[in-house]
Amino acid sequence: MSSTSDVQQATPQPLDASKLIYTLADSPRDVPDPATSCAGDTTICTDHMILATWSATTGWSAPKLKPYGPLSIMPAASCLHYATECFEGLKAYRGSDGKLRVFRMEHNAARLQMSCNRISLPTVDTDQLIQLVHALLAVDGPKWLPEDQAGEFLYIRPTVIGTQSNLGVQAPRSAMFYIIMGYVARVDAVPGGMKLLTSPDNMVRSWVGGFGHAKVGANYGPSVIASQEASREGFHQILWLYGEDGECTEAGGSNFFVVWERKGDKQKELVTAPLDDRLILDGVTRRSCLELVRERLGGELEITERKFTINEVIEAAAEGRLLESFSVGTMWFVTPVSHIRHRGYDIKIPMGEQGEMGEVTGKLKGWLGDIMYGGVEHSWATVVSEKRA
Ligand SMILES: *Cc1c(COP(=O)(O)O)cnc(C)c1O
Repeated sequence: MSSTSDVQQATPQPLDASKLIYTLADSPRDVPDPATSCAGDTTICTDHMILATWSATTGWSAPKLKPYGPLSIMPAASCLHYATECFEGLKAYRGSDGKLRVFRMEHNAARLQMSCNRISLPTVDTDQLIQLVHALLAVDGPKWLPEDQAGEFLYIRPTVIGTQSNLGVQAPRSAMFYIIMGYVARVDAVPGGMKLLTSPDNMVRSWVGGFGHAKVGANYGPSVIASQEASREGFHQILWLYGEDGECTEAGGSNFFVVWERKGDKQKELVTAPLDDRLILDGVTRRSCLELVRERLGGELEITERKFTINEVIEAAAEGRLLESFSVGTMWFVTPVSHIRHRGYDIKIPMGEQGEMGEVTGKLKGWLGDIMYGGVEHSWATVVSEKRA
């Protein structure tokens, strides 16, 4: 007969946010002034982080909220060799009413599960993830994003890594989940709009059957070489093309849209790459833009998720049918695209009457900003309840 404790040991424990153990920082750090918070080479993170470990036999440890600091993992840990690493990116927004809000976090949580599954890591329960993000924001939000900084944000990075110290390529039997947060620069205000350079012929970001749809670290490191080249030539991001026909997929780490008058019937159409071939990330911002346009501009603007090629964009521009273009994501928010260079050919994209952005781009940016910063009440934004010192 087995004792109760034997039975417990045999059952891997689920992640349980209610067991969170608090160890607060002894020497909290100074908050940088907003002007310099993103100026250095190192991302400035808040005082604390959340961390839980997992093993295939015991399951999840009780999560800890503890001072931000180095991790201890073995040099043979699988994340360091076989890219068993995935992450999420979301923001907390300080509203005009002084409240802190998160935006549709359940979608980030679901996507993290998908990413974990794709690289054989244990999944993090969506509700527990959400509770743990709230717990971290409750502690560090008031200090690191004070009430008087309406319109500012903190970037939140939940991460899962395989930590099993074994050089065999296999599903990790131990892993770590952590959440850090810190400052990232505001990049959506690009004077004159964003300039994109199409990806070189000999490089792809993702491929059918690959993992471009997952937020796994393995997608990002290898893309930097192309971005560096773009940056040297004065462009902000790479427009990643795919296949013989040059299908437009994503702009760097953001989802890419065009608004044009459709060839033939001249219907005004919002076009973006589809999700079904799993080449692109199912962005929360992408989804939100599509839903808002469907709800609020449905009468005038048709929405089409389909493959579209760079030659279609060139043709639309040449025929005066290209109306606007923008790129969206948590990092880039909604940023107008004014210029695309493809194999030395320059596509100029209209930027609206004031030269700042097109009409649809401006509306989406305004609507989403209002939701995120509490200008309007909306079910997509959730207020964080903060611990006041
Ligand atoms: C994260 C990411 C996006 C944007 O997704 P959001 O959920 O809107 O932040 C788009 N493309 C890639 C490749 C990404 O990594």
